[in-house]
Formats: sequence, C-alpha cells, structure tokens
Amino acid sequence: MSQKAPIFQRIALIGTGLIGSSIARAARAQSAANTIIATARSAATRKRVVELGFADQVVDSNAAAVKDADLVIVCIPVGACGDVAKEIGPHLKPGAIVSDVGSVKGSVLRDMAPHLPKGVHFIPAHPVAGTEYSGPDAGFAELFVDRWCILTPPEKADAAAVQKLTAFWTALGAKVETMTADHHDLVLAITSHLPHLIAYTIVGTADELGQVTRSEVLQFSAGGFRDFTRIAASDPTMWRDVFLANKDAVLEMLGRFNEDVSALTKAIRKGDGDALFEHFTRTRAIRKGIVELGQDSSAPDFGRPHPHLPDSPLPRPYAADNE
Ligand code: NAP
Repeated sequence: MSQKAPIFQRIALIGTGLIGSSIARAARAQSAANTIIATARSAATRKRVVELGFADQVVDSNAAAVKDADLVIVCIPVGACGDVAKEIGPHLKPGAIVSDVGSVKGSVLRDMAPHLPKGVHFIPAHPVAGTEYSGPDAGFAELFVDRWCILTPPEKADAAAVQKLTAFWTALGAKVETMTADHHDLVLAITSHLPHLIAYTIVGTADELGQVTRSEVLQFSAGGFRDFTRIAASDPTMWRDVFLANKDAVLEMLGRFNEDVSALTKAIRKGDGDALFEHFTRTRAIRKGIVELGQDSSAPDFGRPHPHLPDSPLPRPYAADNE
C-alpha cells in the first residue's frame, strides 16, 4: 500500500482548544504533516496536550513553536491574534505559511499582517465547523469532514501558498472556498454571528423570567428553545471577540433583522395570517435548500442524540454545526 506524502513537514499550532486540537488530530489521522508542534497560553493546557498525545512536541512559547515550521496556524480568540503575530514575527522561517482559524477575517488581517515579515505567506482561514465545547479534550479528527473552510488570501498572496493550504484543508476533509475578508465577514454576520446573538438574547430573556425558567421552561424545553441553549453555551471569550471584531457587519444585519421582527410583530398584532403564512413558507424552503446542499441532515430532530457529543452512541458523520 502506498504511503501518502505529508503536505507539510512541520506544522505549528498556537492554541490547542477545540479547533487547534482538532486540526492536530485530523492532520495526524490523514498524515498531512510530518511533525506537529503545539503550544498553548497556559501551563495547564500544555500539560493536558502532552497527556492527550495528539502533538509530536509541546513547547512552552509561541516563539519556540514557530521555529522551522512550514505552516503556522494561530488557533486562538480573534482579539488575541495581533499580539501573537507580533510575538512570532521575528522567529518565522522564510517562506513559511502563516494562517489562523478565526471566525472574523477583516480584523485578523488588519491585526496580524503588519507584524509578519516579508517572505512569509499570510493566508487567513476560517473552518466553518465547531461545537459548543472548548479546550483540548473537545477536539476530534472528523470535525472538518464535509465542512467549508474559507480562505481569505490578501490580494497579492502567493498562489502556490494558497494552493498548499487548500491541499492541507482538503486532506483534513474540508471543502475549500476562497473569498475576500470583507465578503466573509458580511456572509458570516448573517449565517453565524447574528444567530448566536439571537440565541444569547433569547436564553438570557428566558433566564430573566426566573421562576418560569427554572421550572417549566427547562422541564418542557422543546426543539426551539433547546437548540438556542446549545448555541448560547458557546465560548464567551470567543464570541465576545467575534462581536467586537465584526461590529459593522453585525450591526448592519441586526438593523435588517429588527425591521423584519417589526414586520412580523405587526402581522401578529393585526391578525394578518396571510403575511405570516407567506413568510413561514419562504423560510421552510430555505431549510429544504440547506438539507439539499448537504449542510444538515433531514432526519427529524426530536431530541435525537447529536453525533458529535462525547457520550453519543452514534458515529460523527455530520458532526459540527457551530462555528
Ligand atoms: P478554545 O477551545 O477556547 O481554545 C482557545 C485556545 O486559545 C486555547 O488553547 C487557549 O489557551 C488559547 N488562548 C485563549 N486566549 C488566548 C490569548 N489571549 N492569547 C493566547 N492564547 C489564548 O477555542 P476554539 O473554539 O478552539 O476557538 C479558537 C478560534 O477558532 C477562535 O478564533 C474562534 O473564533 C475560531 N473558531 C471557533 C469555532 C468554534 O465553534 N468553537 C469554529 C470555527 C472557528 P489556554 O487553554 O491555555 O487558555
């Protein structure tokens, strides 16, 4: 049997939470890298990474991690990317590819690019895959399978470097798309950031109902509310940074959303059943389109076990639905 050649000799992962640890596990499973170096901010996380054993070496500093690396992927909250770029800049190998996994791309480009030396290829990326869990234990090798990974190379990016990073994500199972950082941020504002904001709001509102939440709302939580609570359990640091970093696009989408809520409010108040029916028919068709595109399962979800959860008895064929 022929052995696949690794795409990169040496990769460095800065940050080994859900995403960083999943990249390490997937890269190892697919032989996409010869050597995987990992580091994390805290000694506790680094110790856990050693115990879990998904990296070949765990080092204490970001500078040590990037030394001689052909690919560096920064897997930390977007608000911290600028400082890390400043720290690693002087230690990068000429010709290395530097990337990230942040959920916002414009701010990452703005904060990281000025600190990276000439001769290093900076290609920001966002794997649109995740769960509501965090930390090195939460990752798994199949996280990116059949999920999109969006690359946002700057205008004059080296085509060969973009191609190599594309090959890496493809080896991890992802489908790769390329777009500008601004376009990414606008698209993700509506498909991911606004839904998270709505989930954080609705779960917070229900919680403020106090008495009801602790009894009936939790006890009878059905599909709608239950799904919101899962999304609203996502990492607070990550999402704080996402809303601060993608402020303009989120505010734009929030404005449109508020207008639509007002229109539905009016239809309910006026008893305009036709308007409600027409709106719900349109949204049902959107759901059908998402299933047809393979972005979700058509199986009815009446509290079915979610395959990506650690204690799920099911395999993980369509695991990830946060990002
Ligand atoms: P995570 O599980 O919470 O892990 C975060 C990692 O970043 C940890 O290793 C943490 O180190 C490190 N870190 C945190 N703050 C830091 C700082 N100020 N400086 C340096 N390192 C720091 O997070 P994640 O879910 O992997 O998310 C990482 C990135 O992926 C974020 O930019 C996020 O936007 C993006 N992303 C997330 C998802 C998702 O669904 N979760 C999906 C797609 C993309 P310690 O453990 O030592 O604190």
